[in-house]
Amino acid sequence: MQLGGYQNIVLLTGAGISVGAGLPTYRGPGGLWSDPKLAELSNATALQTRRREVTNMFWGFRSALAGVTPTVAHRALAAFEERLPAGARMTIITQNIDGLHQAASSRDVCEYHGSLVNWRCDECGHTESPPAGDAPEHCNERMRPCVVMFGEMIPVDAERTAKQALRDCDLFVAIGTSGTVMPAANFVQWAQLNNARRILINLEIFDGARAQFTECYAGPADEVVPRVFATE
Ligand SMILES: [Zn+2]
Repeated sequence: MQLGGYQNIVLLTGAGISVGAGLPTYRGPGGLWSDPKLAELSNATALQTRRREVTNMFWGFRSALAGVTPTVAHRALAAFEERLPAGARMTIITQNIDGLHQAASSRDVCEYHGSLVNWRCDECGHTESPPAGDAPEHCNERMRPCVVMFGEMIPVDAERTAKQALRDCDLFVAIGTSGTVMPAANFVQWAQLNNARRILINLEIFDGARAQFTECYAGPADEVVPRVFATE
């Protein structure tokens, strides 16, 4: 497939793009957060009541990223961006907190749900990216991951970046997400207002998505993404 000629490309990526990296998913059926105990700890209120357990859980997720490398799909997107003509732009908005788009050298990544790689102190605002292995101890363990927990707002700058990118987009592609829940459901509508071409790539295509997207491709991201974003 040829995806040439677009000036403002916006991608939304979800858990499905990282499955090939061997990472567990968090939300959704079979995801880590379908475990009631882990779901409870991923709620922002648990930071007040069970802070040590919360930070241990997220530190476990952070540590699991060590040695994980980007998938074929992540790399295909980075290669596509590399070959864009001057003036064309590709923004990746990701719901994933694994940092794998950056690891694949994608340049323009908006981490909509934050990142497990970055931690901040609730007391003084200090932030750091502690290497895997060393749990952050700053300010007597007041550090928490810079991820959006259940019950928390999307960070203002991420929301602004996403809206600005979508306002101008002429091609919108959702990858590894059903396309029918927030934020994908909103994003595809904004793209439609702009008459953008709208492509969905996901393991399963639900009827609700077919009405919103101009094209839908069912299959694993590692198979479909390199085909859709072929650079040859
Ligand atoms: Zn501090």
